Amino acid sequence: MNDMKARRGYCGWPDVRQLSFRKGLLYGFMRLFSLPLKTLRGASRSLRVDRFCGVVYTSSSLQIELVPCLRDNYAYLIYDVNTGTVGVVDPSEAAPIIDVLSEKNLNLTYILNTHHHDDHTGGNADLKERYGAKVIGSGLDKEKIPGIDIHLSDGDKWMFAGHEVHIMATPGHTQGHISFYFPGSEAIFTGDTLFSLSCGKLLEGTPEQMLSSLEKIMLLPDNTSIYCGHEYTLSDSKFALSIEPGNKELKSYAAHIAHLTSRGFPTIPSTLKMEKACNPFLRTSSSEIRQKLNIAVTADNAEALSVIRQAKDKF
Ligand SMILES: [Zn+2]
Repeated sequence: MNDMKARRGYCGWPDVRQLSFRKGLLYGFMRLFSLPLKTLRGASRSLRVDRFCGVVYTSSSLQIELVPCLRDNYAYLIYDVNTGTVGVVDPSEAAPIIDVLSEKNLNLTYILNTHHHDDHTGGNADLKERYGAKVIGSGLDKEKIPGIDIHLSDGDKWMFAGHEVHIMATPGHTQGHISFYFPGSEAIFTGDTLFSLSCGKLLEGTPEQMLSSLEKIMLLPDNTSIYCGHEYTLSDSKFALSIEPGNKELKSYAAHIAHLTSRGFPTIPSTLKMEKACNPFLRTSSSEIRQKLNIAVTADNAEALSVIRQAKDKF
């Protein structure tokens, strides 16, 4: 167990009970063994994730805590144990974030936004006013992200309490969408670009842009944890299975997702390895998917992504 890269503990940091397991055995498996779940968290009404209290201990001094917001959004608290620096990624609303911070007696230094949509930035103004936190987002969204202070762009390296954060432009869902990659913690916050088993709708961008964004993420190490903006995995698994029913890994992952969801547990984070094996939007060259959706063998991957996206939109 010495090669553990990730540790999970439950119900609060920093004095949390720490559990160590292989990251490859994750997918929420451990959550089933973390009962009793007594800390109420967040405002999720469709899932019982408000009974879940999960903190991921990454391989660095960074801890990541999932905070359910609105109906199916996730915000993430990121906490550096050495300096006490706290950030929040995509706070859709302020109240659940304030609850967690108050309970732990923590301040908020940074607000990180992946893109400008309200369900990712709705908490910015209140949190900024209450804590004086600095808002970080894409320079392309500087007119759209409430309270933005620090403008970043593709390839920038920003530091969070000594942790390098790589800013990756990942347009397609919106033009200014960025993802925050923490290489030292093997974690990426993908907002509405990459979901577990799906990708964001192409609201502002083209299939080519989305494909290139996803391909950029696919170049990261396989054991990268994927923290996305929504809990959509169950319905995404049904769509994925409908177009690639012969994918054994997908079948078993979908069964696991159904089990987790039926127990009210989050399915996030996923891993890049699992997404590559199961997510149809990362599998545009799959012959089974192409046959199911009548995508020509000669069609390029962007055309295939476009057809898969249209089929998903109608699913
Ligand atoms: Zn969005």
